[in-house]
Formats: sequence, C-alpha cells, structure tokens
Amino acid sequence: MSLDGDYDPDNIFAKILKGELPCVKVYEDEHILSFMDIFPQAPGHVLVVPREPVRNALEMTDGALQAAIVRVKRIANAVKTALAPDGIILTQFNGAPAGQTVFHVHFHIIPRHEGVALGAHGGGQADMEVLKDQAARIAAAIEHP
Ligand code: 5GP
Repeated sequence: MSLDGDYDPDNIFAKILKGELPCVKVYEDEHILSFMDIFPQAPGHVLVVPREPVRNALEMTDGALQAAIVRVKRIANAVKTALAPDGIILTQFNGAPAGQTVFHVHFHIIPRHEGVALGAHGGGQADMEVLKDQAARIAAAIEHP
C-alpha cells in the first residue's frame, strides 16, 4: 500500500466508525472518534480517527485536518492530565513504507515515561479492563471548549 490507491470502506477503522466493530472509546464528536489502541506501544496509547473517509493525511480536506489536529491536542492534554507522562509522542503515518498498517487516516498519541523503552508498533494486545480504566480517566480529563 503506497500513498496512492483506493479507499477501502471495509477497513478496520471504517468498521469501528460505523459501529460494526467495538472499540474502547475515549471521545467522539462530529469530526473524530478517539479510542484506545489495542496493541499499545506504551500504556495510554490513544488513536484519533477523523471521520473523513480517506487513506491518509495528505488526502484530507483542510477543514477536516484542522478539526482533527485541534482534537489531537485536546486529547493529548487530557492524556497528560490523566496519566502524568514525562513526554508524549504525536505521530501519524502515511503509506506502508512510512509504517501505516490501517488505511484510514489516524493520529497516534503515545505517552512516554523516562527510562521506559517504546514498545513495538503492533505488538501485544492490551488487557481490556486496563484499557477501559485508562479511557475513562482520559475522557474525564478532556477540557471541552
Ligand atoms: P498505523 O500502523 O496504521 O499507523 O496504526 C494502526 C494502529 O491501529 C496500530 O497502532 C495498531 O496497534 C492499531 N490497531 C490495529 N487494529 C486495531 C483494532 O482492531 N482496534 C484498535 N483499537 N486498534 C487497532
């Protein structure tokens, strides 16, 4: 999967957006759905998935991208409040050679703690009860405008 190609409306995030597959939700509104990554690279790894049905950020409309990145910042601040990390990675991959594995545009929010190595991308599956607890704490810390 390179940068160009057709959008697959049955990709895993499209199914989550449509409610056909479950997720551990952090936040949603008309622009995005945010949920816990089930193969977290660190505890508290959150995904922000724009509702716009495109493969990557380069294909997003300016308005959808602006709305998404503002929400990424807002949720990252909630991660900071809820989990007190030492640092936070905000990242976003475009095309398989860049590390993208799900071809519906999305952003990663990954908390980092001093001296703790970053886990593998797409590593082991997290405990659902732990994810639910983290999601509830992050959701409670979101400051709504
Ligand atoms: P990408 O590699 O495309 O940037 O990121 C895709 C992310 O989605 C990975 O971090 C992976 O762990 C996560 N992921 C893959 N399948 C699922 C799933 O079914 N549910 C959730 N919540 N995350 C998923």
